[in-house]
Amino acid sequence: MTDMRDLYQEVILDHYKKPRNYTKPANVSQQADGRNPLCGDKVTVYLFVKDGRATEIGFEGSGCAISTASASMMTESVKGKTVGEIEKLFHRFHGLVTSDKSVDPSVDLGKLEVFSGVREFPVRVKCASLAWHTLMAALENKGELVTTE
Ligand code: ZN
Repeated sequence: MTDMRDLYQEVILDHYKKPRNYTKPANVSQQADGRNPLCGDKVTVYLFVKDGRATEIGFEGSGCAISTASASMMTESVKGKTVGEIEKLFHRFHGLVTSDKSVDPSVDLGKLEVFSGVREFPVRVKCASLAWHTLMAALENKGELVTTE
């Protein structure tokens, strides 16, 4: 458990200091805004979906280390994937941070596995899942404000 906690802090700090895909892509077909009022996290997720695949993704926003790192890692994990794959990943990630054992464990989370560390800090679960909820709203092209309360 200690190793996982160290890895968790290391990976989160790295992505917080150097967020990946922290930009509005040249092409945007859909986007959504998310807020986590509990912590003050804000994120906008931009997507360009072509032939059922998220070929471009980026985000902007401000928030705590966990929300920023989660958004950064979410964009890395999702880029190039099909909408179906992204939905599976979302459910798997959500299951990971909320300890929901009913979620299909066959979906490979890769580096996202470090977010299992969030379960030790229940108040941070909303920080970690904000970007993902906002991503799903963008996929559905709701364009509306998502709050994680
Ligand atoms: Zn937060």
